[in-house]
Amino acid sequence: MVMNKWSGKAYTQRYYEILEKRRSLPVWVQKKEFLQCLMRNQTMILVGETGSGKTTQIPQFVLEAMQEDAGRNPSKWLVGCTQPRRVAAMSVASRVAEEMDVAIGEEVGYTVRFEDCTSSKTMLKYLTDGMLLREAMTDPLLQRYKAIVLDEAHERTLATDLLFGILKRVLKNRPDLKLVVMSATLEAEKFLEYFSGAPLMKVPGRLHPVEIFYTPEPERDYLDAAIRTVVQIHMFEPPGDVLVFLTGEEEIEDACRKIVGELGDQVNVVPLYSSLPTAMQQKIFDPPTENVRKIVVSTNIAETSLTIDGIVYVVDPGFSKQKIYNPETRVESLLVSPISQASAQQRAGRAGRTRPGKCFRLYTEKSFNHDLIKQTYPELLRSNLANTVLTLNKLGIDNLVSFDFMDPPAPVTLGRALNDLVNLGALDDEGNLTRIGEMMSEFPLDPQMAKMLIASPKFNCSNEILSISAMLSVPNCFIRPRGEAQKAADEAKARFEHIDGDHLTLLNVYHDYKQNKEDSNWCYENFINYKAMKSAENVREQLVRIMSKFNLKMCSTDFNSRDYYINIRKALLAGYFMQVAHLDGSGHYLTAKDDKMVNLHPSCSLDHKPEWVVYNECVQTSRNFIRIVTYIQGEWLVDVAPHYYHPSNFPNCEAKRVLQKISKKRGRGGNPK
Ligand code: ADP
Ligand code: MG
Repeated sequence: MVMNKWSGKAYTQRYYEILEKRRSLPVWVQKKEFLQCLMRNQTMILVGETGSGKTTQIPQFVLEAMQEDAGRNPSKWLVGCTQPRRVAAMSVASRVAEEMDVAIGEEVGYTVRFEDCTSSKTMLKYLTDGMLLREAMTDPLLQRYKAIVLDEAHERTLATDLLFGILKRVLKNRPDLKLVVMSATLEAEKFLEYFSGAPLMKVPGRLHPVEIFYTPEPERDYLDAAIRTVVQIHMFEPPGDVLVFLTGEEEIEDACRKIVGELGDQVNVVPLYSSLPTAMQQKIFDPPTENVRKIVVSTNIAETSLTIDGIVYVVDPGFSKQKIYNPETRVESLLVSPISQASAQQRAGRAGRTRPGKCFRLYTEKSFNHDLIKQTYPELLRSNLANTVLTLNKLGIDNLVSFDFMDPPAPVTLGRALNDLVNLGALDDEGNLTRIGEMMSEFPLDPQMAKMLIASPKFNCSNEILSISAMLSVPNCFIRPRGEAQKAADEAKARFEHIDGDHLTLLNVYHDYKQNKEDSNWCYENFINYKAMKSAENVREQLVRIMSKFNLKMCSTDFNSRDYYINIRKALLAGYFMQVAHLDGSGHYLTAKDDKMVNLHPSCSLDHKPEWVVYNECVQTSRNFIRIVTYIQGEWLVDVAPHYYHPSNFPNCEAKRVLQKISKKRGRGGNPK
């Protein structure tokens, strides 16, 4: 009997079932060729259709090869495989653990931000590209790894783009390290050019033809149109599962409800988005039930990251949520935007995996040809680069102009980032990392939040700022169901609301949650997302560890003191002083310095419109909204960030005149330096 070389036990029946399926995947045909190529080259590029087995199989092949290569050398090493999305990293790791017949977290594990499911036994680790970047900061040569697989390279996420440049350097210093770059689409020339000399291996897909249908006229409401299309497919098309692409959790849940409303249990409707509980995510892989059509309603995750078997029909409204960055106003926002032609092609391809399929595009052919861009721009060109600059600096790459970017960022974006970091005190005027900057780079957070945490002991409220930071780092904790329960949910939320702002409301929720830990009904009764609270607790613990490492004190102001909330609000500003808005005479909020008109988000818990507010994020929809907003005093700006808020550094606007008055009163009208 063949024993499982990992567990030492006999293989289960399930193992053999899956093995059969795995052997039918396209990458298996080229396994030998792949292994030869891997052994002969330090870097190789692998391009294959989505669903050909790249993500699940190739890292296992690499692991096998590395093991043979290592022979009896018992030294500890890993094979790492990066994923742009945390859901994909977790889901794929579980699948591969199952394929290898081992428990997840043992030989096969995953690491995503704030969650590490690995052990000393782990040899194959799936991790987000962001996590590998973090690891590089403490282990610059990535000594723990014997091979790295950069998956989904075509996605061109910020972290993957940085890893390209970093790994190029590492490979020069680590002749024993192997790199496999894997990509779904045909941008291969770009990778070939960048990793010059690396061979390209193509895995031919077995794509069946997909017939494309366009709408004759533009659709006014794509959500409506999508639901209508699903209903029509179900009524008039032969059996086969349906995949619908929408943009986010709320929209997806809404669509699922409506589809069930129309078709009842003739269909099995399954949502798929990143904040969905893991067990629910697994439902998309449920084997088909006879006579019941499966309808998967998904975000972009299903475009290339996760492959769902059995899809014959794709409904593509042509939108996804994308990060957009405006370097002029420094605002980074998630916007529902038209996808690219390359994305549309990927989406259509999902219909032809098992047999000929159909793709219904809810836009006109003319629009496809003329309105959609060819390829989505790399994320690096759509991001605020403050964090990137900090990360690279920590890696010893302070001359960003010489960094080998596949697509270099615009000088104005880099300039802004450097400026922000100087303002936050992370870089000195020469662009060198300061002590504070070094600390900031160790927090897996954006620079403002890191700065706020580091400054919080000075305001005697690090305990509270830790709780707020944790709450800001997890998905929205408030559950707001539609229909009858909505009123009850709003009333429940109102009980937590702090009139001075949303940050304090979040703090109230966290405190109340901790006080009622024994009460298993507490979350349910208060319409609070239990999972979000659990992860906030976990995030907080990890942040505490980083604080302790730097000897940053955990402290609180006496709750009965007048200063309790004042100190917290000041500490918020210590990090977020660049995200402040001022109320002008006509009752509108304008962002400080760039004077952009913004509105308080409807979820805001302020009971009045204070003159000055600090906000956590700016979201752009039809209007600009600031979300998670807290009331602050103009004088504090001058105290907390005197240089940034010195009138001489300000464009002409009402806020400037107010600041001038404040400064004058303080007798600090002179030069800021
Ligand atoms: P690629 O990376 O080339 O797109 P994958 O390795 O992700 O391909 O997928 C290969 C196959 O494994 C697909 O048929 C997919 O449906 C299957 N698969 C992946 N994850 C799971 C899972 N959790 N459960 C069942 N099947 C899965
Ligand atoms: Mg894949």
